[in-house]
Amino acid sequence: MTQQPLLLLDVDGPLNPYAAPKRRPEGYDTHRLRPSWWVAKQEYLAAVQARQATRAKHAKPPAVRVKPLRVWLNPSHGEALLALPYELVWATGWMGEANTHIGPHIGLPELPYIRWSDLFGADPDGLHWKTRDVVAWAAGRPFVWVDDELGPQDGEWIAAHHPGPALALHVNPRIGLLAEDFARLREWAESSAVPGA
Ligand SMILES: [Mg+2]
Repeated sequence: MTQQPLLLLDVDGPLNPYAAPKRRPEGYDTHRLRPSWWVAKQEYLAAVQARQATRAKHAKPPAVRVKPLRVWLNPSHGEALLALPYELVWATGWMGEANTHIGPHIGLPELPYIRWSDLFGADPDGLHWKTRDVVAWAAGRPFVWVDDELGPQDGEWIAAHHPGPALALHVNPRIGLLAEDFARLREWAESSAVPGA
């Protein structure tokens, strides 16, 4: 009996190539979504702008109608992810809303998700704001973390603090997940399988 490794999945970057130049990448559909983190961020920015404009510290923020966030998703990605020998877990600022806003568009069932201790926060040692939570959540299990914002310091910290096999797989947010990433994920799972775990 072999326990499957975890695949910790970011949304913006790997599944939604939001930085693609100019136009919607081939094979992707456009969705206009209003996740609560996006609405909160836009409302906050509007309030900051309003305060700067009036120079009044306690000016009442204007009521804003938040424009939806444009998200590009590839409907074939769910099936491709489910075919991999991993347990899938959301590792995204969307948290539980990935299950309602993202999963259904690409054919993924409801998945567990990591609840962040400091969403979009600043790490005292310059790590990504997800890194410590990712390692704590994996609790020693083999994992691949797929994200567009990983730096070398995150990989080093994981190697020093996670007792099992782990891979931090950087995906370019201009491109998103490619066939070669899926091949690499399969290869990694096969080569790092822990018999009897
Ligand atoms: Mg991202």
